[in-house]
Amino acid sequence: MTTMLATRPLAAHAWPGLIATYRDYLPVNEATPVVTLREGNTPLIEALHLSRLIGRSARIWLKFDGLNPTGSFKDRGMTMAVSKAKEAGSEAIVCASTGNTSAAAAAYGGRGGLKVFVLVPDGYVALGKLAQALIYGAEVIPIQGNFDQAFALVRQVADQYPVTLVNSVNRYRLEGQKTAAFEVCEQLGEAPDWLCIPVGNAGNLTAYWMGFSQFYQKGLVRKRPRMMGFEAAGAAALIHGKVIPIPNPETIATAIRIGNPASGVMAVASARQSGGTIDAVTDQEILEAYHLLARHEGVFCEPASASSVAGLLKCHDQIPEGANIVCVLTGNGLKDPDTALKGCTLRHSAIAPTLEAIAMAMGF
Ligand SMILES: *Cc1c(COP(=O)(O)O)cnc(C)c1O
Repeated sequence: MTTMLATRPLAAHAWPGLIATYRDYLPVNEATPVVTLREGNTPLIEALHLSRLIGRSARIWLKFDGLNPTGSFKDRGMTMAVSKAKEAGSEAIVCASTGNTSAAAAAYGGRGGLKVFVLVPDGYVALGKLAQALIYGAEVIPIQGNFDQAFALVRQVADQYPVTLVNSVNRYRLEGQKTAAFEVCEQLGEAPDWLCIPVGNAGNLTAYWMGFSQFYQKGLVRKRPRMMGFEAAGAAALIHGKVIPIPNPETIATAIRIGNPASGVMAVASARQSGGTIDAVTDQEILEAYHLLARHEGVFCEPASASSVAGLLKCHDQIPEGANIVCVLTGNGLKDPDTALKGCTLRHSAIAPTLEAIAMAMGF
């Protein structure tokens, strides 16, 4: 009798990563050395509690991109950016980051054998994201300044030194990120009526719009959604239909603590073209949505991600009857345990390890 499992060949239906899946829609060729962690194919989860709360026979769905290999949608862009950097012969990459871009750059860059440099705003990166960048082996350079300052610096670094910039101004990033829109269409069988999405540096909103537009032009879907972007109120540089930089952005949602969004002009244009808008939500509204998602939907996202749901709740009176609405949850809640614990109460003192004491604690 054998006690060993037979080796199972990788099933033919196993998800091969988004470049292999959407190769025909992406600027890659036979010579592109694909660096993948099998990102993408994240679940579209029906938000039953939220749907009931909103009423109007609307169905609300959560595109949980926090289930990517490094825990955020940044992996979609990074598989493309790193593969193309390698194809171009680059040996190093650099980015400025509020945390998730650095985690993804560190993982994909390291896997691709590239040197990875990341500039982060000192003290404003969630603990899990910092741990990721370090453990994946990136050179982490904290600066005494915010994301916008870090970003201005990495642009200069990439101009003057032999290193590829992998922030979302790298055009391959948005190409990878648009695949999330493809997946949403395939998962719903049609494009949604609305897409609610957090807005930080403002690349992802346009990436989704590109994806929906591409499927629409191919005739694979019959409509495109209204793009509803939501910034944090303390970092709301885009809400008046143009880019008005905020010098000192502040929000609990550190992933979108960005005062001068690099892709702001494009995001405003995409939202307008779609018949949608970019609005702002307060930290209070973000935290309420964050807790609601965890408690009632069983979905733990990071605070910035919850701005899509906070925005939906804010605009609930505009929701059409019977609408299909997708809220993008950009990152995983485990990245920011500090914010999670701050909003909850933990029993401070341990109790005696007896049945009586435990039953009493449980209220029986
Ligand atoms: C990067 C990021 C965002 C913002 O995306 P942009 O493309 O910069 O607008 C939102 N949420 C999370 C979790 C992120 O990591």
